[in-house]
Amino acid sequence: MGFDGAEEAAIRAAMFAHLDALVEQSPDGTLTSAEINTFTFDDRPHPLIVQQGIWKPAGLAAALTIRTAYPQPDRPPPYEDAIGEDGLLRYKFRGTDPGHSDNRALRRAMEDRRPLAYFVGVDRGCYLPVHPVWIEAEDRHRLEFSVSLDEIHRDLLGDVRHDLAHDLAHDLAHDLAGVVTRRYAERLTRDRLHQPVFRARVLRAYRGRCAVCRLRQPRLLDAAHIIPDGRPRGDAVVPNGLALCKIHHAAYDADLMAVRPDLVVEVAPRLLREHDGPMLLHGLQEMDGRRIDVPTLRRARPDPERLEDRYRRFQEVG
Ligand SMILES: [Zn+2]
Repeated sequence: MGFDGAEEAAIRAAMFAHLDALVEQSPDGTLTSAEINTFTFDDRPHPLIVQQGIWKPAGLAAALTIRTAYPQPDRPPPYEDAIGEDGLLRYKFRGTDPGHSDNRALRRAMEDRRPLAYFVGVDRGCYLPVHPVWIEAEDRHRLEFSVSLDEIHRDLLGDVRHDLAHDLAHDLAHDLAGVVTRRYAERLTRDRLHQPVFRARVLRAYRGRCAVCRLRQPRLLDAAHIIPDGRPRGDAVVPNGLALCKIHHAAYDADLMAVRPDLVVEVAPRLLREHDGPMLLHGLQEMDGRRIDVPTLRRARPDPERLEDRYRRFQEVG
C-alpha cells in the first residue's frame, strides 16, 4: 500500500522530530545507527539507515534518507572534494545508471520538493545527522545530484536574483547574484556540515576529552585547527585537529599557549609572568611542560609537520 502526498510529508516531519529529540540528548550531536533506527511511524518500525546510501522505504515515492560512509581519520570526508561551483554539496548516483531505482527515488524527491535526512558517517556505526536537506538538481554526465542544506537558502537564491535584477543591468545582476549565493552556500555548507563533522570526528578520536587538561564536558569542548581553516593544509581532517576545552582552544588560537611537535604544552612567557586567580594558575600556567593526550589510533594523531609550522608561528609572535 502506497503513501499519499500527505503521508509522504507526515513521515518526514515525524523523522525530523525523532532526530531532533535524539540529537538533543547527544553530548556531541552524533548518533549511532541503532539509535537512529528506533524510528517508528504509524506504530511500525521504520529503519532510516540501511545498507545502501540512498534509502526509500517501500510505499514511499521519494527517497527518505541519504548517507555517506565514514572515512579514515586522516582522509577528508567523501563530500570534501564534492562542493560544486555553486557552493552546493554533491551526492553521487548509485552506480552509473540514472534509471536505477535508487536514483529515480532521489530524482522524485527533487521533483516533489521532499526534504530528506542526510547521515554523515563520522566513525564506525556513528553518524552526524544533517536535516532537512533538499535535492536541487542532477547532472547525468557527472552522475551526481546537488544538495542544498536548507530551504532558506533555496528561497534566497530566488530573492537575490530578483532584487538585483531590478536595480542592475541583467548580466551584472546575474553575476553578482551568483557570487552572493555561492558565498552563502559555501558558508552554509561549512557551518552546517564541515565544522560539525570535523568537531565530531576530532572529539571521538580524543575520547571526548581536552588534550591539554582532560576536561570531559562535551559542551565545553571544541575541535581546534592546528593550521587554521582556509590556509594551505588547514583542512578539516583529524590530524589537523586537537580536542580542546573552550579556554584552551581560545588560548591556543591567541598564541598564549602552544603545542610543540614533541607534544609538550608551552605557555607563553608573558602569561607565565602574570599573577591572577585560580584559572590562570591552575588552568593555564600549570599546563606548561605537560604532554598532551593523543588518540590511540596512530593516523588520528596530530601531524608533526603541522604542529611544527604552528609552533614556529607561536615563537615568532611570542
Ligand atoms: Zn582544557
